[in-house]
Amino acid sequence: MAKKIDAAVCVGCGSCAGSCAVEAISQQGDKYVIDEAVCVDCGACEGQCPVGAIS
Ligand code: SF4
Ligand code: SF4
Repeated sequence: MAKKIDAAVCVGCGSCAGSCAVEAISQQGDKYVIDEAVCVDCGACEGQCPVGAIS
């Protein structure tokens, strides 16, 4: 299972993107999204999100 970013919660800070070793996180408009085909579910991004948008 890949991680997901809740777009309703994400504030677009970008903190998560830099923590992803496989570059699965990209900006889309004023939010960030995780490419499920690329994410290896390492969990690194989850702890970087100040608003708990990643699960
Ligand atoms: S769980 Fe790991 S691989 Fe998936 S988006 Fe987060 S940092 Fe990247
Ligand atoms: S760290 Fe959280 S709030 Fe910031 S861009 Fe990533 S998902 Fe959105």
